[in-house]
Amino acid sequence: MLRSRFDELLRRLGEISDLERVDSLLSWDQETKMPPLGAPARAEQLATVTRLAHELATAPELGELIEELRELEEASEPESFEASVVRVARRDYERQRRVPSDLRAEMTRAGSFGYAAWLEARAAGDFEVLRPHLERRVELMHEYIACHEPFDDPYDVLLYDNEPGMRTADVEAVFERLKAELVPLVASMGEPIDDACLCGDFSPARQREFSLEVLLRWGMDEEAWRLDDTVHPFSSNISEADIRVTTRFDREDLTGILACLHEFGHGLYERQVDVRYSRTPLQRGASAAFHESQSRLWENVVGRRLSTWRFLYPRLQELFPERFADIALDEFHRALNRVAPSVRRVDADEVTYPLHIVLRFELEREMLSGGLTPADLPEAFDSKLREYLGIEPANVVEGVLQDVHWSDANFGYFPTYAIGNVIAAQLWERATAELGDLDSEFERGEFDSLREWLREHIHRWGRAFEPPELLERAVGGRLDADPYLAHLRGKVEALERA
Ligand code: ZN
Repeated sequence: MLRSRFDELLRRLGEISDLERVDSLLSWDQETKMPPLGAPARAEQLATVTRLAHELATAPELGELIEELRELEEASEPESFEASVVRVARRDYERQRRVPSDLRAEMTRAGSFGYAAWLEARAAGDFEVLRPHLERRVELMHEYIACHEPFDDPYDVLLYDNEPGMRTADVEAVFERLKAELVPLVASMGEPIDDACLCGDFSPARQREFSLEVLLRWGMDEEAWRLDDTVHPFSSNISEADIRVTTRFDREDLTGILACLHEFGHGLYERQVDVRYSRTPLQRGASAAFHESQSRLWENVVGRRLSTWRFLYPRLQELFPERFADIALDEFHRALNRVAPSVRRVDADEVTYPLHIVLRFELEREMLSGGLTPADLPEAFDSKLREYLGIEPANVVEGVLQDVHWSDANFGYFPTYAIGNVIAAQLWERATAELGDLDSEFERGEFDSLREWLREHIHRWGRAFEPPELLERAVGGRLDADPYLAHLRGKVEALERA
């Protein structure tokens, strides 16, 4: 009896998953292939699919079914397929049901208006255009938070949407450490090294060829992946056997290649989720930060590593002889790891990046508590940038208006970028402790043992465990800034020795 009810649950969850994947496919198409005039109809199609998925996900019959299956869940091991599906389905259902659909719709609407206002504010160079929309979003966030009582900290509610189980207090403690160590480290650094060798005239077709060669070597299988062009790189997965990575190859630099390495990490995560989880809510990465930990691990830890480039650089030289024939590997590698404070978060290097996040986290929390009003945000933004990185934006477009996040999304997302870096360093430390010297493998062009370690300890579990538990299982501890800080200090020392 319970078995057939469980099958019924899988059937319902499968339909929700199908609609969500259709949504992903429509969005992927919109960003890569759709002609511009397709936009209005696409917006309607996406809205319809989203509404249908929401209706199925909040149907009272689904709630009853999940309740009936509590018995099956309790009789099974927590790691079992059955218990994991019921547990995660309940978590999602309860979370969805807590928020009235009117409020959800209002938040979505405010997001679209906010996004339009952000574009307009940037075009006009005037923060005042965005301000009323930001005030409205803060109000709506308070209504949203009120749906979720009780909680220790109102920010916990927003954080939970991206990092289930992670507490604001834990994030704050890790961020305080990052700030205490990195602000003086950045201030003590000498003149940034010259990275002019990374600029030139790089044929996009050759960049694409090189990127594909790297990704194939790292584990992209051609039967299950695609690489397409877009404006803002992202990765999307339509199923565990249909992974779509996108990038933008600019002729004047190699950032499109690095974006591929980053998006590969996201794609690999979804590719290696246990196939049993297919068409269930488990078939995704555990959280935004865990996802980012995978992209940062492949982009920064592996992708900016000397041993990796000992293998890759000769091929890059072969493809771009006019630029790299006379540049030694060491010089190229140092340029790739240059540290220099920048105003724009997305241009930031590994060492200064977390400070961009810490300041945004602090500002979000102050706005949420009412200690900071949106009207005072530009001033507060500039002053923190000055204090943490010693630099100043030339205007609001470069400063407080640089990110889209505060216009169309809720607070609580920014921290996941830096938490991702912290987790990446913890996983790398653990993986190398278990696997031994990976550098000699990377030098030979072998990346399989790291990929398989990640499959075993992180990827295959999908969303079965909340982030703190997944981390505990993989590294035997909690979120810890030490491995990341050691990694960054090592990087700065290596640059200064040169
Ligand atoms: Zn990413």
